[in-house]
Amino acid sequence: MTNNPNTHIDTDLLCGIDNKELMEVPSPRCRLHRGVVGPLLHLCEAARDAGFDLQVASSYRTFDRQLLIWNNKASGHRPVLDAAGRPLDISCLSERDLVFAILHWSALPGASRHHWGTDLDIYDRSLISEDYVVQLTVAETIDAGPFAPFHAWLNDILENNNTGFYRPYALDLGGVSPEPWHLSYAPLANGYAQQLTESVLRERIETSDIQLKHAILDNLTEIYQRFVCVPLG
Ligand SMILES: [Zn+2]
Repeated sequence: MTNNPNTHIDTDLLCGIDNKELMEVPSPRCRLHRGVVGPLLHLCEAARDAGFDLQVASSYRTFDRQLLIWNNKASGHRPVLDAAGRPLDISCLSERDLVFAILHWSALPGASRHHWGTDLDIYDRSLISEDYVVQLTVAETIDAGPFAPFHAWLNDILENNNTGFYRPYALDLGGVSPEPWHLSYAPLANGYAQQLTESVLRERIETSDIQLKHAILDNLTEIYQRFVCVPLG
């Protein structure tokens, strides 16, 4: 299934308000756009053949869920971390600096690729114990990290097989920090990415109950360029 880039996608679907394309997947447990389920199950099968147990840590996320995360961070109810992962004293930050600090780790509500059902965060359960708490950090995916063999396999399959999936946050481009565990199903996600324009996002933020609204709107062009525009797959 591919989105013709000219096919209009409702802005409610772009921003996680509507979910009529979603399917519940029992194994691996997740909620995704119905067009992504088959390709994901193929990827899981390939992982199984290679001795891995592909699981989904996070899949579809609503606007309201992302809004709750954002507002909790903006109001100090949830820690805001610096680039090295240490908690920041947000009382020392300007509103603009607080907005950008939150954006380093959390998407702006309306602009998360998880709103589309085309994107998911994955890990491998074959080499971890039952009580291991998955962090989703780069350290887990390299060197002696528990998911390093899985990511080595994933590098190869994404490069050499036509899975449709790619890593939109593979590199640090000065916005979102690298997230090698985040996969996007390009044949659908590219259409969403092209239609989620700055003006669609501006309208959504203007009408939402979001904290730091003025600082977000004043800096939206920069936010859009640095954190929303990532390479298409
Ligand atoms: Zn993700």
